[in-house]
Amino acid sequence: MVTLFDNGPAPHEYAAGDVNHDKEVNIVDVTALVDYLLGNGEICLTCADVDGDEDVNIADVTALIDRLLGGN
Ligand SMILES: [Zn+2]
Repeated sequence: MVTLFDNGPAPHEYAAGDVNHDKEVNIVDVTALVDYLLGNGEICLTCADVDGDEDVNIADVTALIDRLLGGN
C-alpha cells in the first residue's frame, strides 16, 4: 500500500472538501469522494469530512455539493 495522503489532524493546509489536495474545491473533489465511497481510489480523509462529524460517508458528498452550490 502506498499512502498518497497524509491524513493528519485537521486543520491542515488544505480546505475541507479538497479531498484530492489540488488546492481547489470543485466538482473533481465530488467525483473523487464518490469514487472513494465506492471503494475506488484514495482521498484525504481529513478533508473529506466536510460536515465535520468525524466520519466519511454519503453525507459528506451532500455537504460538499451544497458547498459548491453556495448553500449552507
Ligand atoms: Zn487533506
